[in-house]
Amino acid sequence: MKSVLTARDIEAIIAKGGDPNAATTDAILTPSARDALRDFANARRGSAATAAGAPAKLLNSKSPKSELEALFNSPQTQALKEQLCDIGRRLWQRAYVDGNGGNIAIRVGEDIALCTPTLVSKGFMKPADMCLVDFEGNQLCGVKRRTSEILMHLQIMKRQPRAVATVHCHPPYSTGFAVAGIEPPTCMIPEYEVFSSVAIAPYRTPGTPEMGKLVADLVDKHNTILMANHGVVSWSHNDVEDAYFKMEILEAYCRTVLVSAQLGKPAKTMTPAQLQDLLKIKQSLGIPDPRHGLKECELCDNAEWRPGVACAIPPQKESSIGFDADAEATVQAITDQILAQLR
Ligand SMILES: [Zn+2]
Repeated sequence: MKSVLTARDIEAIIAKGGDPNAATTDAILTPSARDALRDFANARRGSAATAAGAPAKLLNSKSPKSELEALFNSPQTQALKEQLCDIGRRLWQRAYVDGNGGNIAIRVGEDIALCTPTLVSKGFMKPADMCLVDFEGNQLCGVKRRTSEILMHLQIMKRQPRAVATVHCHPPYSTGFAVAGIEPPTCMIPEYEVFSSVAIAPYRTPGTPEMGKLVADLVDKHNTILMANHGVVSWSHNDVEDAYFKMEILEAYCRTVLVSAQLGKPAKTMTPAQLQDLLKIKQSLGIPDPRHGLKECELCDNAEWRPGVACAIPPQKESSIGFDADAEATVQAITDQILAQLR
């Protein structure tokens, strides 16, 4: 019979210096065990990157031009440039971008970032097209001009120190929700609850500092922002692929919600207790959510989408029940008038 491995079993194997993957080949994994394995893989990837020769000190916008050029042309940055091309291709292949739309940025120093160029389709970028900018959007290196929407990415990175990468695109289903001004409903699909924290920013002209500020105002508690009448931007504390995954997760979710809304039956949702379990996983992964710490009754509450689902209102104090000062005053005025007419 197959054995069942929990997160605790995985942690015990790691603590002893063993390889947890070897133990899992013939075992059933609990969801938390799978998370523990993923964390282990991420940690190993992180230490491998350091071992591969990441610069000991982070450069900044005031670093000498020669050092910035050296960083821009280093093998590590070359790998990131290739990754930007790869993510761009995936955005284009999935039809998350149109024309020259969409842009991507990766933090590579204290206040500097690598980003995609303007006026190039995300499906056909080359590593040599990439740009290095400071956090004010000034271009430091690169032959092509940086994306016109870079300010929004930089404002996210400034406001959210954990943001190491950002992705912006226009996936049709998610953008549909952004155009309708509807925040996707919650309590339907586990992946969405664990990996995404969505909010809507009001419309402003793309590329303006004002647009960036409205998005940045939300990134403390949200990692995926629907930009009204425009598209979506996401950030990750892990890497650029993780920021891209936020797009896949959101787009698949919005599509699923639309399909389910057309099936003629009210959607079944998870219970607040089930959601609470998912939020615990989310918190352990370091993913922000405004619902962390809320009471269960407040969790599956999205009145805009599912009217009537609401947190129980605590009973009012005896003395205030049925008392409405305005109504009392109106009744008194009418009574006085009737009495005056009778006289
Ligand atoms: Zn855009």
